[in-house]
Amino acid sequence: MTNEFSQLNLHPELLRAAAELGFNKPTEVQTRVIPLMLEGKDVLAQSQTGSGKTAAFAFPVLENMINTNHQGSVNTLVLTPTRELAIQVADAIAQYSRHQKVEVMPVYGGQHYGTSRRRLKNGVDVIVGTPGRLQDLIRQRILDLSNVQTVILDEADEMLSMGFVDDVENILRETPAQRQTTLFSATLPKSIRQLADKYMNDPETVMIQRKQVTVDTVEQRYYLVNEKDKLAALTRLFEIEEIGATLVFTKTRVGSSRVANELIQRGFSAEALNGDLAQDARIRVLDRFRSGRIKVLVATDVAARGLDIDDISHVFNFDLPTDPELYVHRIGRTGRAGKDGIAISLVTPGDKRYLGRIGSFTKYQIPQAQFPTEKDVQERREIRLLAKMEVWLERDRCKREEEMAEYLVASGYDPLKVAAAAIKMARGEEKQRPIEKISEVRINRSSGKNSRRKQYSRNGKNRKRYPNSRGNGKSGASHEQGMVRLSLGRGRQHGINPGEIVGGIASRANIPGYGIGKITIFDKYTLLDVKEEYVSNVLNKTGSYHFHDQHNVDIKRASN
Ligand code: ADP
Ligand code: MG
Repeated sequence: MTNEFSQLNLHPELLRAAAELGFNKPTEVQTRVIPLMLEGKDVLAQSQTGSGKTAAFAFPVLENMINTNHQGSVNTLVLTPTRELAIQVADAIAQYSRHQKVEVMPVYGGQHYGTSRRRLKNGVDVIVGTPGRLQDLIRQRILDLSNVQTVILDEADEMLSMGFVDDVENILRETPAQRQTTLFSATLPKSIRQLADKYMNDPETVMIQRKQVTVDTVEQRYYLVNEKDKLAALTRLFEIEEIGATLVFTKTRVGSSRVANELIQRGFSAEALNGDLAQDARIRVLDRFRSGRIKVLVATDVAARGLDIDDISHVFNFDLPTDPELYVHRIGRTGRAGKDGIAISLVTPGDKRYLGRIGSFTKYQIPQAQFPTEKDVQERREIRLLAKMEVWLERDRCKREEEMAEYLVASGYDPLKVAAAAIKMARGEEKQRPIEKISEVRINRSSGKNSRRKQYSRNGKNRKRYPNSRGNGKSGASHEQGMVRLSLGRGRQHGINPGEIVGGIASRANIPGYGIGKITIFDKYTLLDVKEEYVSNVLNKTGSYHFHDQHNVDIKRASN
């Protein structure tokens, strides 16, 4: 195999997985960490987001599992700060171990304890979980960590800044003292060093210089907007900007689905990229984006990690990041390789303080711009239509249409009027995209920042104190409050995609796109969350649904 991974002395089955995933060459952090971990050393690794840290710790762990006779008791424990990351990392490890017999299990709040208990009984090799839930499982004696050989603290900086330090320490104490302890982080604040001193055994430190991010080739501007008008704002900008491949960043996973759904409703080819997607679904979405079949990708920061796509024309901050580094990281995805890119931020009055911080971090005050007016949009639409008509006139391939026009003229209509009527009809489609109002922003002194902070830490505490009070325990797969889970009798096998589902259901049941939430496509069927108030519209619609080339598709309440 001509694959630079083979120089790392990994088993052919791991090399095969790497090759299939398109990993031709190890990243720097992988090249340096994998040999150290294979030697059994404790490792403290700092490397920027998107640099491939997951495989850096997963490959050596999986390699060891091939070489030793693992017997299904938990031998590897990965701690992650969030549920989203737990799922993402567990998925990644499952992909890397696709040619091995390894059981990987994500663990996070909201899951059924019974399910976790059952799976653990059947044998799990690798656990990936959030500190809160892991502690719950330990306390309830569902999880036993006495056979753990390797512990990985992933995104350690996040974990500490979210106040998980006590939980992490408690969990470490449940593992054997002679374990291998490794720590991965994008930054190395002092608190991490302290944790390392306390719990690691003479660790090797691997520090990878962060690539210099320059954003000089990016044109930046921001628009001041009220939270509730963000979608209207975004679509209005889409009409005016010459958008090519476009990335829209949202703060939350839920937000990314909602924005994607709404954009689809408005006729833009968009898809969400978020932690809910399994690795192969993620790869497919990215393929569609790369090949231009979808123009707009709506992503969270976590989901966009490691996205390596050139030729992005625009980055939109649907939600402005609070962290200046994140801002630079996001907008660095456009304007690559000396090309011009455009970064546009939607800024609410409460966000203005962050704008200041970003300005001082990048040494550039982002200029404010004014929204195009409805008249501007209208004019732009007309110019585009005329340009399209000119293309057809140049092509001169409207034989049949010419005959139809001749017929009308022969019937006594004025040729100019005939043309005007035809244009009017051609513009019918525009009527379905009304230009939404954007209300004026009134600057209010008290901004939303503090309340958001409080909410954040309050959640963190709840997680510890009231382990049973959160989430909804009704179904193993989580769905959001106020949503009802429906099942649709077609799946991946039938070539169904999320855009068609949202578009198809919303238009036929006559409900708004945001009435449809999370969509999970399985091989033979699809689960989707629909807002309570729209469920009856969806279920009681007369006539049948069809998607793609699939007719008479039934939709019913999901059974669990
Ligand atoms: P980090 O944890 O450092 O933020 P990840 O482990 O999440 O980074 O990896 C980021 C992305 O890079 C993922 O999509 C992953 O599949 C991809 N990736 C990792 N290693 C390689 C490699 N050697 N070659 C190509 N892509 C890789
Ligand atoms: Mg990571």
